[in-house]
Amino acid sequence: MARIGGDEFVVILPGTSGRTEIAGIADNIVRELGISYDVWEESFSMSASIGIAVYPADGNTAEEILKNADNAMYAAKRKDKNGWCFYEAFMQSEALEKTVLRNSLRYAVERKELSLAYQPQAAAKGAAVVGFEALLRWDSPEHGPVSPGCFIPVAEQSGLIQPMGAWVLKEACAFARRLADHGYEDIYIAVNVSAKQIAADDFVGVVRGALAEAGIKPGQIELEITESFLMSSMEDAKRKFGELRATGIRLALDDFGTGFSSLTYLWNLPVTKLKIDKSFIDIIMHDTAKTNIVSTIIKMAHDFNMVVVAEGVETEQQYTYLTENSCDLIQGYYISRPVDETEAIRLLHKGKDT
Ligand code: C2E
Ligand code: MG
Ligand code: MG
Repeated sequence: MARIGGDEFVVILPGTSGRTEIAGIADNIVRELGISYDVWEESFSMSASIGIAVYPADGNTAEEILKNADNAMYAAKRKDKNGWCFYEAFMQSEALEKTVLRNSLRYAVERKELSLAYQPQAAAKGAAVVGFEALLRWDSPEHGPVSPGCFIPVAEQSGLIQPMGAWVLKEACAFARRLADHGYEDIYIAVNVSAKQIAADDFVGVVRGALAEAGIKPGQIELEITESFLMSSMEDAKRKFGELRATGIRLALDDFGTGFSSLTYLWNLPVTKLKIDKSFIDIIMHDTAKTNIVSTIIKMAHDFNMVVVAEGVETEQQYTYLTENSCDLIQGYYISRPVDETEAIRLLHKGKDT
């Protein structure tokens, strides 16, 4: 067994080539690592994503075997984070696709291929637009429009998320500036930030710099974070968000319900808003027992003094249920799809007139 990088280990099983036997060993590793242990009354456990490549079927050289085990590991990570996956030929083409995507992405900022779309968040009662979420769009000359679900993970893995995230912040702040100039100083722009950005030493400085450069009030920017990053360093995140919150920047917890949805996070972070993930909104009216979870989340968030946003609201039924259950804000196609800046401002003017 060898450690080949920060959190990457290689296990070699000489003379073992039966897939059932290998899968059994992988199961054992995952199980043993998953045993929880207590430190200072907190319970901890680890998870492992294992990629498996078999010689000679999956490669003739050590390099090839390692590379394909790595490809399989990424597939395992995507599948359920805690488990294993055998290498399959299609993964090679996936990996290649990623490399090609990464190379194009590298120039996307300079070539001005990126833009932001803005999706309104409206008050559940009265439907007035109170803010917008900025969503990154990439129109690549080589690949056409690529969805953030595809290119954000690539940007995160390759370190490109730092310059890209800085660009998004700068653009969003510039839009907030123009909104203020139009008399909409109270409208906020929510910006998604990824774990890798938060972990950077200069994260707080980058955010403050963007605000100062645009000359806007900190309350005009909201940062959306997901739980995933918190796994890496809770203390670091707590300190950084504490500093940002103290300046008046808003903080929202995105995709609530998809991760661990731990109350520890809600207690420990100065988060002022909770976004219920679309997957929960989708079950409204389809499954009565589960629908109750949505109203429970809303109640719980209110007990924490948090504002609640429902994401991905598409139908009138969902909208009615959410308003009846005191959800504060609505975001989704039912209100509006993400739109460009001109349309966003038009929506605000329209709201003013009615
Ligand atoms: P998210 O932050 O949860 O954003 C909400 C996603 O749901 C957006 O997808 C939005 O277009 C989509 N959506 C909103 N309403 C509806 C609806 O009614 N029905 C359906 N089917 N979808 C709806 P999008 O723009 O593809 O973004 C996907 C994810 O990519 C975002 O999820 C966010 O995690 C990430 N992302 C987007 N922009 C950025 C960015 O600038 N930085 C970072 N780090 N991540 C970003
Ligand atoms: Mg978001
Ligand atoms: Mg979300």
